Amino acid sequence: MEDLIGKVALVTGASRGIGRAIALALAGTGANIAVNYRSRDNEATEVVSQVRRLGRLAVAVKADVSVSADVNRMVGIVEKELGSPSILVNNAGIGVMHSIDTITEKDWNDTIAVNLTSAFLTIQAVLPGMRALKWGRIISLSSAAAQIGGVVGPHYAASKAGILGLTHYYAAYLAKEGITVNAIAPGPVSTEMAAGLSQLSPDLVPVGRFGTVEEISEVAVMLVRNGYITGQTFNINGGRYLS
Ligand code: NAP
Repeated sequence: MEDLIGKVALVTGASRGIGRAIALALAGTGANIAVNYRSRDNEATEVVSQVRRLGRLAVAVKADVSVSADVNRMVGIVEKELGSPSILVNNAGIGVMHSIDTITEKDWNDTIAVNLTSAFLTIQAVLPGMRALKWGRIISLSSAAAQIGGVVGPHYAASKAGILGLTHYYAAYLAKEGITVNAIAPGPVSTEMAAGLSQLSPDLVPVGRFGTVEEISEVAVMLVRNGYITGQTFNINGGRYLS
């Protein structure tokens, strides 16, 4: 098990939901935290305050992770304020429902950009620092939708399946450099995203309820601590997809 005290973790989309829970859980293990978000200044500032109350350093960085200039600016700020991130959690995402009868090319492109291109851009931006440290942990949020299709639409399922291919490539390529790369694929979890998806219901989940953000964050912490797990997908879905 690794000692995480003083390591720098960049968590995208950490102002609320799953990202916020992962940021706080990593702070609880001793990491300093960069809290990325897109628009909700107050929520991000509150997460930073909570991290500081845990005795760790924290900075909030507003950046749209689907835009490469924003990603590079974000990573530059984190390096200056906290140091090079050796832990990256690609969590930022959108889940906007579109049926196959109404989805447009723009809907597709918007979701692929925020859910998938963002992970590629952010990994590329932090990799030089991780490679110099010869230690890194990359975790990206996929979804059970990658495996079963789900309720949001083809754009979302494809973006989350793309995360798995991205994870496999980087895991294979970086294994010899002390950098592990894994994915977490949740089923429905109680957050604003899930609340906004009217077709999601606990009846769809064999255990009969949505997951909690803590049930996701504890696995993220385990993946950061463990250096022998790489290239894997962790299904946390109440039995919605059986692997
Ligand atoms: P959420 O409650 O909607 O929170 C989304 C977070 O992402 C917010 O912090 C938001 O920032 C940020 N964000 C969105 N677009 C961004 C962008 N372009 N650049 C930077 N930040 C951006 O979502 P969640 O339910 O916690 O989901 C987190 C991840 O888990 C997502 O990738 C999602 O697809 C995945 N997931 C969720 C579920 C579920 O049931 N909840 C299931 C499977 C997978 P602001 O607050 O500033 O808007």
